[in-house]
Amino acid sequence: MWIDTHSHLDAAEFGHDRDAVYARARAVGVEIQIIPAVSRPNLTAVAGLCRNYPGCFPAWGLHPIYTHRPDDIAAVRAQIEAWRPVAVGEIGLDLYEGHPDFTQQERTFVAQLELAREYDLPVILHSRRAVDLCLKHVRRIRVPGGIAHAFVGSAQQAHAFIDLGFKLGFGGAFTYARATRLQQLARELPLEAIVLETDSPDIPPAWLPADNRRNEPAELPRMAAELARLRGVDDATIAAATSANARAVLRLEA
Ligand code: ZN
Repeated sequence: MWIDTHSHLDAAEFGHDRDAVYARARAVGVEIQIIPAVSRPNLTAVAGLCRNYPGCFPAWGLHPIYTHRPDDIAAVRAQIEAWRPVAVGEIGLDLYEGHPDFTQQERTFVAQLELAREYDLPVILHSRRAVDLCLKHVRRIRVPGGIAHAFVGSAQQAHAFIDLGFKLGFGGAFTYARATRLQQLARELPLEAIVLETDSPDIPPAWLPADNRRNEPAELPRMAAELARLRGVDDATIAAATSANARAVLRLEA
């Protein structure tokens, strides 16, 4: 069985065929999907989805690329109280152009790290062009680990996350021939530090056709096969290890 540690199955892209997407994932053994919320209105959508699709578990949080109001933090807190999630997420910093003001991102991120610490929850971390800044805050506000989602960084940064109790999320990005640095990490990092994720409907793997680049959780086993090939092990080894890693960091029962 497989765990997709990052799936936006609630996204509008799945509006017309969500049941079929879910069924395809189950059919290839993706039995668990972690669904991170991204905004206050999205909390309700993710809750509805997780209620209706067995094996889908929510994370509650405010994503850095959206604008949030100060009282949205209180809404995340209320949601944690109402339904204990597997993590606070997805949260983080994104320095890509055109995204909300950095001071505002940082304030929202720090407030949610504090929530995670207060409720003893791991975090699902989104970091784009901001790995060291994220690390700085996670060092300061110690949360019980988490997942560095769609990790792109150096080996040194990867090990800094590992030392803080994090796993590194690998998905579509390392499947491209040009992604040599990510492939080197996927090959050389300790297997205990790796979890798999699709980030559906985003980060399509290399093999999706040009006319349909929508990613979906059923792609996860093929990503795992790529990881197995890179590491010179069999798929079953990857399945066992990445599932155990995800269960450990998100405290899912076996
Ligand atoms: Zn995401």
